Amino acid sequence: MKRQNSANATTTSPSKFFSNTSNQFSEILKQITQNSNNKPMRKACSPNSNNQMQKRVKTQITSISRNPNLNIHNKNISASVPKNKLEYYQVLEQIGSGKFGKVYKCLLNQTKKLYAIKMIDKLYLKKNQMLHQLHREVAIQQMLKHQNIIQLVEFFETTNNYCLVLEYATGGTLFQSLMKQNNRRYSEPAASNIIKQVACAIQQMQQQSIIHRDLKPENILWCNGQIKISDFGWSVQDKKERDTLCGTIDYLSPEMVFGQQYDNSIDLWSLGVLTFELTTGRTPFQVQEGFTLQFPDYLSGDVKDLMKGLLTDKKNRKSIEWVLNHVWLS
Ligand code: AMP
Repeated sequence: MKRQNSANATTTSPSKFFSNTSNQFSEILKQITQNSNNKPMRKACSPNSNNQMQKRVKTQITSISRNPNLNIHNKNISASVPKNKLEYYQVLEQIGSGKFGKVYKCLLNQTKKLYAIKMIDKLYLKKNQMLHQLHREVAIQQMLKHQNIIQLVEFFETTNNYCLVLEYATGGTLFQSLMKQNNRRYSEPAASNIIKQVACAIQQMQQQSIIHRDLKPENILWCNGQIKISDFGWSVQDKKERDTLCGTIDYLSPEMVFGQQYDNSIDLWSLGVLTFELTTGRTPFQVQEGFTLQFPDYLSGDVKDLMKGLLTDKKNRKSIEWVLNHVWLS
């Protein structure tokens, strides 16, 4: 089953900015999904009262480096990791599962404060040669301290797992709350409030030369009415342009899809896709259609202007400062 499309959306005339034809686009995406070893479907549990399960296609792309010599997978991170701190916590219940492991709600015995602990199976990591990726996720998340970013509190290992202790987000994912809205979309004022907070987090990441590379509703959490970015599993920090293919298909920028060099503006593309999804209940680009942008008539001129500034080719894409000063966010 595909992502849910909003039911009665009519459209205004499309703006197509990318020169590749639709056929080329679907061919490239076909190759990407064939090349990735990933599970093509990710389920998201709808929080509807009737407890219906809703699926959406979440083809998440495994990291594919175009230069295999650049992959250094066997970095040993064990030496410096504190051990066995799990005994200080009471593990209460599983609250999620991600790319590498399971996430549990936990209580720190001493303070009775709640945390989320992401437990990552050491054998799985080793088998998939992803130790370096965990190392990067931990290093990046330790660096980031911002009200709209989930704080990494500590990192340790047990016999079988690496454990990331994270600030506990009380309100679930943005995807779950989106599914609860009428027509699975937010009103523009509500969406604007969310997008502004995500934009603040992106600004902080850019100031620290960090690219998240997988921004989407599933990786955005609610914590006491505030938005917090999470899951830095695909993040990188440096100023160089990159060409590794990773992320989630509906949110991939054209430069990434077409194998060009990219930079931190891919997070701004994702912000544009997120704005579209929050205000319409669906993502803007379907595999078969390429990057043709069509807006439902009910959207305001301001939000369309914001999205046009982001959902465009890298050269013309607006900056995070432009976004934060945009009238739709005021
Ligand atoms: P991740 O591995 O980061 O993608 O997390 C998988 C799932 O675990 C998320 O979709 C959330 O449902 C849940 N989760 C992750 N981090 C937290 C957190 N800090 N607080 C509450 N739930 C979380």
